[in-house]
Formats: sequence, structure tokens, C-alpha cells
Amino acid sequence: MEVKSAYIHIPFCVRICTYCDFNKYFIQNQPVDQYLDCLITEMNQSEVRTLDTVFVGGGTPTALSHEQLEKLLAAITDIFEIKGEFSFEANPDELTLDKVQLLKDYGVNRLSMGVQTFKPELLEILGRSHQTEDIYNAVTNARKVGIPSISLDLMYHLPKQTLEDFKDSLEKALSMDIDHISSYGLILEPKTQFYNMYRKGQLKIPNEDIGEEMYEYLLNRMNQSELHQYEISNFGKAGHESEHNKVYWKNEGYYGFGAGASGYVNGERYNNVNPVNHYIKKIQNNERPILDSTYPTENEQMEEEMFLGLRMNQGVSRERFYQKFNKTVDDVYSEAIQDLLQRELILDNGGYISLTERGKVIGNLVFESFLLNV
Ligand code: SF4
Repeated sequence: MEVKSAYIHIPFCVRICTYCDFNKYFIQNQPVDQYLDCLITEMNQSEVRTLDTVFVGGGTPTALSHEQLEKLLAAITDIFEIKGEFSFEANPDELTLDKVQLLKDYGVNRLSMGVQTFKPELLEILGRSHQTEDIYNAVTNARKVGIPSISLDLMYHLPKQTLEDFKDSLEKALSMDIDHISSYGLILEPKTQFYNMYRKGQLKIPNEDIGEEMYEYLLNRMNQSELHQYEISNFGKAGHESEHNKVYWKNEGYYGFGAGASGYVNGERYNNVNPVNHYIKKIQNNERPILDSTYPTENEQMEEEMFLGLRMNQGVSRERFYQKFNKTVDDVYSEAIQDLLQRELILDNGGYISLTERGKVIGNLVFESFLLNV
């Protein structure tokens, strides 16, 4: 199948958040201009020229200076014809009016803002660079220049966060008539500042039940809003779902450009090299900048099809499964499906298999049932 999506990685941040295990570096003293030149070379060397979706993420792409951002935007739009969604990740304190105008001028039509919480004390604990008022300013600026789709990320199950805190952040986001919300529970990742604090007994994470309670609240509250759920952690108004992320969940192909970016093209899953200096060296030596690459087996592809597809409210398409594997879902998974139906963790409407509300809360347990060869 032709690949029509691309992820572009900008691995720089102005401050490193305490919980973050993404592929990112503190921007100061990094060879940012050299990195951009190499990124542009990599994009130029790819065979694709027309894309349906582009997602520029990080790190934080808006950590770039105005000139660097303009160079990047000019290159992306020069190399690719972008027919649909052109998304940018942004930090609220970096969305000044002139930067957001620049994004709009180059055709960016969706912003995904890392808000996480509106509560100042929690922003501080998370080590975020922005303040609560930056969120309001960023949304106002984005609306002023006419960005058509604005998404906010909100986190729950945070240290010291109460259910009331989470409710309050959600209400504040909804009160701005936001088009889309992504909401994820905190995962304590090794090698993060949070993890070290936790090990030393300096950080208390609320117990699992509170995380589940927050998620259940999120589902109920969003049910009463204009933003409908379409994926376990994603909610959007009609016409504002993330088309780029749906490519991942439908287990379709995408290019990955930049240090540490991943791609899935013609059956090959690859990861680019990291850190930034290694990536730069590979590009300068005219080598493909990959760290590793695999061709998932058919069983692995079927597992991915189930795990990823079940994340969406629509679920796994029986037809798409058959088209891809020339086998029905029941040929492979009839036992697991019968068991999960009985336990009321999945639904089956004949065309799609999807999670029930309870299934969404304990999604990982459901996904395990679709592992083959264990
Ligand atoms: S801004 Fe995002 S990528 Fe950067 S450190 Fe914070 S969470 Fe990580």
C-alpha cells in the first residue's frame, strides 16, 4: 500500500520535564542548524513527494527560533505537497503570535499543545516550562491567526493530583471550546527524574484505583461534551480527529524523518539513529541514518493489527483484516474473541470488533489475549 504520511522529529526542548522519556535534548549548545540541514537532506532523499498527513513532533518543534522554524517549514512545504492534515506539536509558552502566524502562513492546520494541567503547582512538579496563563494566550493566538484545529494534551494520575484537580483542568480546557483533547495517565518511565525520585521515596504516585477513577470520569465527562471519543485516549469534535494518528492505529505505513524517528514503509519497521550527532554524521557520510530495521512476521503484523485497531472506538475492521492477511479474524482469534465477548470486554457487530467501556479501562489485559505464539 502506498505510504502517504510522515512524522518529522525535532528533538529539542527548552526545559526537560521531570516525567519525560521521549527522545529529546536540552536545546542549549545543540547543533540545531546542522541538524535541520541534515533533516532536510533526509526528506529530500526520500522517494515520496505527496503526503496526506504530516506530523511535526518532538521534543518541541516550537523550541526552534523564528528563523529556524521558517527554514524548516519552507523545506517541508517545498519538498512535499501536503494534501490534508499538517500538524505541529507546540508548547504553550512558545506559541507567540509571530510564531503561530508563521505556522499558519506555511499551511499548518492543526496544533497539538502540551498543556498537561492547568494547576500551577502541578505544572511545577512536572517541570513544564509554561505557566497557566500561557495556555490561554497560546489558544487565543492560534485562534487569532485562524488555525482551524486545536488539540490540548492533558495528563492524569499525577503525583499530588486529586480527582478535583483533573476535573478542573478538563473544565478549563472545555471552556475554551477546544476542538480535540488527548488525555494520558502518567507512566513512570525508567531514566526519568520522576523515576529516580520515586525510587528514593521522594515521590508518591496515587494508587491505580485513582487513575482508573480519573479515566472513568474522563469518559463520562467527554460523553456529555461535543468531543466524542474515537480512541482510548483521544476525543474530538466532528471533523477534528487526528488523521495522522489514525494512520498508526490502522497499522498503515508512514515515513519517519529525523534523529530517533521511526517509520513503517513497505513492510519494514525502522528506527533512525540517535543521538543528534550520530544522525548528523550518518547523513553527512551519505549513509541511510537507521539504527535498526525489522520486517514483522505475519503473526506480529496480526497482533499489531489487533492491539492498534482496538485502541479506536470503531475497532478492528474485519474486512481490512481479511484484505491484509487473506484470513478472517475468526480464523486466527476465534477463541480469544469468544472469551472476551463472554467477559463483556469486547463488542462484535459483525463488521468491527471493539472494546467495551470496561475493556477500555483495562485495555492492556485485553490486548494480551491477542498475542500469538506465547
Ligand atoms: S516538552 Fe515534551 S518532549 Fe520536551 S521534555 Fe517536556 S515532555 Fe519531554
